[in-house]
Amino acid sequence: MNTTLIRTEVSAIGVQPDQDFYKDIFHQNSGTEYAQAVKLAQERVSDFLKNNKKPFSGIKPAEIKAKIDKVDFEIPLPDYESLLDEVDELYVNHATAFHLPEYIAHLNCPVVIPALAAEVIISAINSSQDTYDQSAGGTFIERKLIDWTSEEVGFKHGDGVFTAGGSQSNLMGLLLARDYYALKYQKWNIKLDGLPSDASKFRIFVSDKAHFSNHKTTWVLGLGEQAIINVGVDQRYRMDPEKLEKAIADEIEKGNIPIAITATAGTTDFGNIDPLKAIANIAAKHKLWLHVDAAYGCGLLLTEKQRHLLNGIELADSVTIDYHKSFFQPVSSSAFIVKNKLHLNMIKHHADYLNPKEQNYDALPAQVNKSVIQTTRRFDALKLWFTLRYMGKKKLGQFTDTLIETTQQTAAYLESDPNFQLLCHSDIGVLLFRYLDGPLESNSCEVNKYIKEKLFFSGEVLVASTKVNGEFYLKFTILNPLTTLNDIKNILNLIKQNGNEYHRLN
Ligand SMILES: *Cc1c(COP(=O)(O)O)cnc(C)c1O
Repeated sequence: MNTTLIRTEVSAIGVQPDQDFYKDIFHQNSGTEYAQAVKLAQERVSDFLKNNKKPFSGIKPAEIKAKIDKVDFEIPLPDYESLLDEVDELYVNHATAFHLPEYIAHLNCPVVIPALAAEVIISAINSSQDTYDQSAGGTFIERKLIDWTSEEVGFKHGDGVFTAGGSQSNLMGLLLARDYYALKYQKWNIKLDGLPSDASKFRIFVSDKAHFSNHKTTWVLGLGEQAIINVGVDQRYRMDPEKLEKAIADEIEKGNIPIAITATAGTTDFGNIDPLKAIANIAAKHKLWLHVDAAYGCGLLLTEKQRHLLNGIELADSVTIDYHKSFFQPVSSSAFIVKNKLHLNMIKHHADYLNPKEQNYDALPAQVNKSVIQTTRRFDALKLWFTLRYMGKKKLGQFTDTLIETTQQTAAYLESDPNFQLLCHSDIGVLLFRYLDGPLESNSCEVNKYIKEKLFFSGEVLVASTKVNGEFYLKFTILNPLTTLNDIKNILNLIKQNGNEYHRLN
């Protein structure tokens, strides 16, 4: 290419092609610009920590939308100060502060600092994990972490890949389950030939309380939600193995074809673990693929005291791990793990420009061979690497132990207070409960909805909610090891005050 020609063209549109023009590109001469920009951004994060005393500003969607709508991309801002001022107003000042004890809503953990330091390196160096020539050491760092995770699960010949989240990992689990069934029992290659004629009879068993990503996955897999059989649960909302046996028998009786079970290790709404061993026995008996969704429960892998809760996970064919739920990692950081590394061969696809068929992948590895959905992929693994190397796995496990203790104390406290009704105990850290004015409270759904909304728009406390058998419950997700029983008592007092207020007004 002729460089004089480019320079003339640039000059023709009135821009001087000098050093300053290219200062915003991360390159060998922009080190100072880079350091300043990142330092200024980092200072705003420190201000966020210093100034935010509430988990949420309480701003209404219409108000913040109006502010954002007003921004005109035709007019760039003159410097980083004005850019950061604008972003503070549009975003940072109103962002949900997951690190405060008054944030007790969803599965958003506080993040650990070594992982944040890793993010600085990840985004600037910007490796892509698909091939060795785009990641070098990154490929082996990811592989070592996958091997480590796989060993923690209890797999001897496992493998896997980092993914963007638990939903993606669940998709991979059920995709392998589907293709494995067809290959092994029908000698049919779905990857090449599409769905077999009886695919509409394929059935996947999940509990009533399994994550909705399992259902969505069936659309993507061409099976439709009719493929999902919801199995009933026990008193603690865990899959009931007897009901599972019965559901499988019923489907076979109808002429349908069971192919897989998804067991949940840590349900999103209860933090309880399906009976993994009993389910694995049933899976083995019927030759079904067993996927364990441990997106939330994976934190238990690292605790010495509570690891037993995951006994049986090693019997799975594949497992979902969300480091960004239970290993205190920033989003995104997740993994899909398989027990038999050869099973990942089912999803290999070769492209001449990236991972040609004739290449020796022992000599020159390519992680893209293990990834169904993503090609270009962030080096998220480095965050977990920083965390394990700097903090060690034991400390992460102790954080989880602390969460469990705080949850148990909270459950006992809720049970001791007549104004509250606890629905269920948790293996990990989710409690559903409701405020009741008295034992004969008739409009508890309205009261509790009022409380939740009032707290949200005051920004003082963020709690979640869900419905169980049509009844509205408040939900605590305890995922911050710094949150104490005292913090929680304060939150419960606010809940009571708002409950009383509802009764005064109605
Ligand atoms: C959060 C969650 C998922 C989905 O994970 P994402 O990372 O949000 O995609 C799947 N299963 C369970 C049990 C979860 O709690």
